[in-house]
Amino acid sequence: MRPSKKHWRVEVVWDDSTVNNGRWCDIKDVLEPANRATTRIHSVGFVLADDETGVVLASGVHGNEATGITHIPRGCVRRVKRLQPIPEPACFLCRRTKDEHAARPDLLHTFTPEPAPRAVAYGSIPGSDDWVMADPEPGS
Ligand SMILES: [Zn+2]
Repeated sequence: MRPSKKHWRVEVVWDDSTVNNGRWCDIKDVLEPANRATTRIHSVGFVLADDETGVVLASGVHGNEATGITHIPRGCVRRVKRLQPIPEPACFLCRRTKDEHAARPDLLHTFTPEPAPRAVAYGSIPGSDDWVMADPEPGS
């Protein structure tokens, strides 16, 4: 069963609390501004609620049931962004989708997908931790 259109997929950026895992700390160090930072979280899911209480996300939705629930308090939410579906591949010649093509028997050409993207090579820079994306070899 597909998720209902009312359950948009979103990315929620929010600030979570931090814990020190129970170890003893110098209070002066605890109160240093650098040690009082929250943890910036990016969560993705289906929206079950987005109201004054906060945002409720689910990782899965099936009819009237949901799983993988995350309750994010309103005061912690920094941003909610609706995610767009990946667009269907279009015909390289006329930009129609495969279904739009099938509905148009009068077209004089067949559905022609975009050429596959050219391969790219990845490699490390010797003596460095940086990784680069190299241009393909000419003629490849
Ligand atoms: Zn076409």
